[in-house]
Amino acid sequence: MRKTTHAKENGRKELEKMFKKHGYDDFEWINPKNIVVAQWARMKCMFGCKNYGKCGTCPPNTPSVVECREFVEGYKACAVFHFTKKVKRPEDRFAWTRRVNSKLLKLEREVFLSGYYKAFLLFMDSCNLCASCPGIRQLCKNPKMARPTPESMAMDVFATVRKIGYPIDVLYNYSQEMNRYAFLFIE
Ligand code: SF4
Repeated sequence: MRKTTHAKENGRKELEKMFKKHGYDDFEWINPKNIVVAQWARMKCMFGCKNYGKCGTCPPNTPSVVECREFVEGYKACAVFHFTKKVKRPEDRFAWTRRVNSKLLKLEREVFLSGYYKAFLLFMDSCNLCASCPGIRQLCKNPKMARPTPESMAMDVFATVRKIGYPIDVLYNYSQEMNRYAFLFIE
């Protein structure tokens, strides 16, 4: 019988080593069954978010809420990565999130190559990999790298991360520290 790769044989311990090797110490595992997917999250994207229709990985470019739930339920494990940052102006966060999201893609790739063929990353902030975005998935300039956010997959990030003891609050000004989360689905 063909052997599985080392990381897959040793499961979470090896994955955690890999996360740490990539510089991630602040993460928690969550059973995807405990991830909250809700219609209200999609409504917030459709009404009130300036990215609606303007980012190739945001609604209406993402699957329906029912399909998002089906996606989440299709996994046995998910690692949640926590990032914090303070910025002076709202637009200052984009350079940071672009850097973080690009680096996370390297981890997703390594997890995939170690035998977890379903590995799939959800970015910690809207894609922003390119200076300008056509806003249409089919016209994406970097389709291999682009990933949706948990919010654009209709996930209630507040309810979900609170279940694993992580902080998250509604912020009312930019002097407050942001708590952002990326989700790496693994199987
Ligand atoms: S990779 Fe570029 S074009 Fe594609 S969704 Fe992200 S920002 Fe838009």
